Formats: sequence, C-alpha cells, structure tokens
Amino acid sequence: MQQPCLKVNEIFYSIQGEGPHTGMPAVFVRLAGCSMGCEFCDTRYAFAQGEDMTVAQILAAMSQYPCHNVVITGGEPTEQDFASLASALKKQAWNVHMETNGAQDADVSDIDFLVVSPKKYVNQEMLKKAHAIKIVVGQQTDLEDLKKYFQYANDRTTVCLQPESNLQENIDLCVNLIKQNPFLRLSLQTHKMANIK
Ligand code: SF4
Repeated sequence: MQQPCLKVNEIFYSIQGEGPHTGMPAVFVRLAGCSMGCEFCDTRYAFAQGEDMTVAQILAAMSQYPCHNVVITGGEPTEQDFASLASALKKQAWNVHMETNGAQDADVSDIDFLVVSPKKYVNQEMLKKAHAIKIVVGQQTDLEDLKKYFQYANDRTTVCLQPESNLQENIDLCVNLIKQNPFLRLSLQTHKMANIK
C-alpha cells in the first residue's frame, strides 16, 4: 500500500524556544501551508515551500538526532495528515508535541502535548483538548475578547500570553495582564533572543 505523503517545509534539531516546554531539545517537523493568513506570521516561508515526503522518509530524516522529543509545527499541521505521522512517531516511542492554531477539530490521540495558539478563529473542541493555550498579544489585541480563553486555565491546561514579536510594549501588556490574572504564564520567544532557529 502506498504511504501517505506530507508536504514538509523543514526538519531541524533545536531547542523549544517558547511555551511551557521552553528549553527542551526537540526535533522540529515543520509542515508546509497555512490558510489562516495572520498579518504577524513569522513562518510565511513555510506557506508554499515544501518537499513531499512519506512518513517513513520523515522518520528516517529524524533518526540522525540524539533526541526523542518532536514538535510537529507549521504552517498549520492540521491542514495535512499529521495523524499518520503522529501515530508512527508514537510507535517509535517519541514524545510527540504539536503546535496548532486549533481552527479545525482533529483527532489528537497520539499527541502527548498539544499547544493551541488561537488566531482569527478557533474550534472550541480543540481548546478543550489543549495542554497549553498560547495567545499572541499585541497592540491590536482585543484584551476583553482574549479573556474568553481564561476559562481554560486549570491544572491540566496552561494559558500563556506571548508578546507579539517580543516588542517591549507587548511584553508590558502581557506582564500587566498576568499580574492581574496570576493563573496566566508569560511565554517569550527565547529562540529569537538567543539567535537560534
Ligand atoms: S496561524 Fe500561525 S502559521 Fe498560520 S498564518 Fe497565522 S501565525 Fe502563520
């Protein structure tokens, strides 16, 4: 039977720079394509460029790294058949993390740690499945509107605020909100500060 193909923008080994697992070494599998079209997107290069790879080819490319943490990211992974990849990774005992905008509901049963970062719209079911909700906060953010996500903060779900583009005014906004709502957490894009991929 022919194996499913995914369009892969890049596979690289680095350190998770943001969110609750900041500092964790991981192999990143960036799937190509995203239809959300956010103005502040910092992975536009992944929208169209990519190589068709079977799951077996992806696993082979990952096997050169001395690490069993993987972050499936994009682009937007749920716009492709990420589930085939996640299932194969679980069979090889990878610790599988995934980052999604959560726009469409998806079967994430093979994902060990799901980060949903809501953008223009988000599916409620995906928010309920999230281990972390990461909200990008900038000057254009409707602060009252984002409070609807706060209800998902519990022992299982961390809600992080991430200043858009690490700008100081956005950091200040996040810090103020977190101090008023101490269940929130700050997520900085430390990989950009450290100048690593
Ligand atoms: S959802 Fe994410 S990947 Fe897609 S356009 Fe927005 S920031 Fe970029």
